[in-house]
Amino acid sequence: MDFAISDEQRQILDTVDRLIDRHLPPEAVRRHDRDHAPPYHVLPALGDAGLLAMPFPVENGGLAAPWETVVLVQERLGYRAFMAASLYNRAIGFGGMSLLVYGSEAQRERYLPEIMAGRAFFALALTESSAGSDAASIVTRARRRGNGWTITGRKTWISDAAAAAAMVVACRTGSPDSGADGISMFLVPPGTTGVQMTPLDKVGNNCLPCFDIGFEEVDVPRDALMGEENHGFHHLMATLHYARAGMAASVTGAAQAAVDIALSHAGERQQFGRPIGGFQVIQHRLVDMQMRVDQARLLAWQLGWLIGEGRPCRREASQAKIAATETLQFVTDHGMQILASAGYAAESDMQRLWRDARLYSFGEGSNEIQRNIIARELGL
Ligand SMILES: Cc1cc2nc3c(=O)[nH]c(=O)nc-3n(C[C@H](O)[C@H](O)[C@H](O)COP(=O)(O)OP(=O)(O)OC[C@H]3O[C@@H](n4cnc5c(N)ncnc54)[C@H](O)[C@@H]3O)c2cc1C
Repeated sequence: MDFAISDEQRQILDTVDRLIDRHLPPEAVRRHDRDHAPPYHVLPALGDAGLLAMPFPVENGGLAAPWETVVLVQERLGYRAFMAASLYNRAIGFGGMSLLVYGSEAQRERYLPEIMAGRAFFALALTESSAGSDAASIVTRARRRGNGWTITGRKTWISDAAAAAAMVVACRTGSPDSGADGISMFLVPPGTTGVQMTPLDKVGNNCLPCFDIGFEEVDVPRDALMGEENHGFHHLMATLHYARAGMAASVTGAAQAAVDIALSHAGERQQFGRPIGGFQVIQHRLVDMQMRVDQARLLAWQLGWLIGEGRPCRREASQAKIAATETLQFVTDHGMQILASAGYAAESDMQRLWRDARLYSFGEGSNEIQRNIIARELGL
């Protein structure tokens, strides 16, 4: 489904394909997954190709590409190697856009060129053991001390924190009952004295290392504050649609990959003297899978267009996130049924997609919370 793709966009997608062929072909994806080794080497290659500079304004050294094109790149990365899409989204959708929207001039100058070159990305340290969906209830605290701040508390499930140039740590700076109005964001490099990281074991997304992180009287300078004091939660909410576009598009790409694997298997696998794709029940499964992917894709593209137009898109961002993540679970579940034992084998790409898919309907704002947002936007 590519009716809206221009020649220029096609050339950019060819660049993505060549880059992935060279740096993260299918056998490398399997190896990185098996070895739990994040493919951080792909980021400088994305940077060299100009792909990480795409959404940023020319005055910040970026390419000011339309968001529709950024979304297409995210989708293609998700199709070819979701682990690369995940890094791309972290670098631009979270780190770069946060700097652009609420970083200081000095923070932008220091980090944005590094992010665009693929030499840096940020981790988001928001979640705590007692503050998941209810993120505004965090208790990790930052207090003014001398010329800076001291951070004390604990975060959990923080992705890619050890390799990040800095964590963006959400801390309470207002009174204990200040809720969303008393949170500030701080840039904390992972090697800062007093930061202790413990890796977490998990069932999938092997290339997304996650950490439980202790902050024991961690001193940071005054200029570590990112954005306005006590306004951090609102800054975060105001930039979420960028990350949601990345997730919706790249998860849609991964879902298309699952459909293509299942289609190819259905054409090749013979039982009862004919390809299993000849059985109507398999055909209908594949039809439903492709229809779901096309629907998710249209919502992701619509979101990219709305972002590019600077139009409000809170509802559409949540819709695109839900559609893509539930589609990926749908198509990988049915894909596993179509591949059967061939899908259950450790070397199968389908089992990796199926395992990884489980995260996205509750990660980065659960789909129940997305539905709450949509309900509010509908006036309920
Ligand atoms: C692999 C992985 C990577 C992660 N990476 C990061 C990261 O980089 N940074 C970070 O800060 N966090 C990260 N997280 C945390 C993630 O964002 C949270 O898991 C997510 O926000 C949900 O929180 P929770 O797991 O505590 O679930 P809970 O909040 O305990 O929710 C449990 C269930 O209750 C439902 N629920 C809760 N409240 C409501 C409500 N009001 N209405 C309806 N249903 C509700 C939820 O939807 C869910 O189904 C990561 C988690 C994982 C597993």
